[in-house]
Parts: sequence; structure tokens; C-alpha cells
Amino acid sequence: MRILLTNDDGIHAPGLVVLEEIARALSDDVWICAPSEEQSGAGHSLTLNQPVRLRKLDMRRYSVTGTPTDSVMLGLRTVLEEQRPDLILSGVNRGANLGDDITYSGTVSAAMEGALAGIRSIALSQVLDRETDHEQFDAAREWGTKVLTPLLDEDFAERTLVNVNFPPRPASQVAGIRVVRQGFHDYSRGSVVEGRDPRGLRYYWFGLHAIEHTLDHGTDLEAISDGYIAVTPLQLELTHDASLATLQERFAG
Ligand code: MN
Repeated sequence: MRILLTNDDGIHAPGLVVLEEIARALSDDVWICAPSEEQSGAGHSLTLNQPVRLRKLDMRRYSVTGTPTDSVMLGLRTVLEEQRPDLILSGVNRGANLGDDITYSGTVSAAMEGALAGIRSIALSQVLDRETDHEQFDAAREWGTKVLTPLLDEDFAERTLVNVNFPPRPASQVAGIRVVRQGFHDYSRGSVVEGRDPRGLRYYWFGLHAIEHTLDHGTDLEAISDGYIAVTPLQLELTHDASLATLQERFAG
């Protein structure tokens, strides 16, 4: 099994080291193609207005001066063109990718790009708790292979991917694994910080930490809050079926 790893925290991120450990437990044919710099919040963006460089750092290890989507696309079109991967893993992200926050996520979007290419793709994220002093990636490191193995036996439907989040607990205190829906957050209070730069000019800085999450039953957010690993199948087909007929009727004749 050939595995391509990527992330949005950049090629030097500690979560990528954890992902490499997880992947090597599954195969020794592991390749890395990841952004040279952090790209958190890049979503599914593709770099169009400037050239992108691919740098070979080591055997089977490449950095890309672009987004997570650039990295997957370039990896598949260049480095692995003649030897397509069987699996794409993205992460392990430093922080949650839960609820509708995933639309901002470079980590999840890299897996979306893999799904578009028809390759089994899984995004992995470690929810952080800055209050505790346990090693932050402990749950992902210890549970990663356990979560992935059943997912490798399963056929993924076309244009689908799987989003995995590990709870902010030491591995020994993880309650188990739940397969759940994507939840949603309360958008009423976004966090935009206003300040002045050293030259006295106003700036704004987005902080996602203050977003309130709605813990609906059967969602990824609830599972994480209960101490479970959340496994959520996602689809790229975004059509809202229930509105289709309503709108068709509205525009008919
Ligand atoms: Mn990130």
C-alpha cells in the first residue's frame, strides 16, 4: 500500500511526525508532500496567481510553496504520477476540525482533493486542550492505527472522505470511537481582534478559539466533548436536496 501524507501545518509540524509514525505502522511505502509553511485556514484554495515550487528534501519527502490542495495536486501530478498512492492521509492537524469549521480547514481540504482524484482519503486532527500538561498528540499517536485499520477495509463511496478528530485527552483516557455526523457552531459571536501595529495602523486578527459550539446529539462535537474519537464520513456533493424541488418549482415556467 502506497501512502501519501500531507497537512496544513507545514512540513516541519510535529503533527506530521505523528502521522508518519501512524502511516509507517501500516506500510513502508510512505511519501510526503506538504506545504513548506503553515497553511491553516487555507481551506480548499489552489494557488493560481504565482508559481509554486516543489522541493525534494529527502527520499520520498517534498515540500510545496503553496497550499495543502497544491501539495496534493502536485504530489499526484509530478512525484507520484507513475505510482499513484492507494491512500492519502492529511494531518495530524494541531487543533480541531469539527462541525462547520471544516469548511476553513486546509487539513480536510487536502483530503477532499484526494477524494476528487478518486483516492481513499482521510483527514486527522488532534483537538487541543492548553490547560492540561499531557503530550498533546498522545491520543492521535496511540489510537491512529486503530482508527485507520477498519477504514482501510471499507470501500469509500465516490467523492467521499473521512474526517477523524482525536479528543484532548491522554490516550489511556480516550473513551472509544464514535461514527457521527458533522455538527455546527454558533456563528453569533466570531472573534475578531482589533489592534494597532507598531506604526499605529489598525489591524484585525481572526481568532477561532472563541466560537461557541452547539453540542447536538450524534455529532462530532458531542463525541469529542464526551471524550470519544469522532469519525465522520463527508461528501463533496454539497447540493441541498430538500431545496432542489422547491427552487425548481420557483423557477419553473
Ligand atoms: Mn492546521
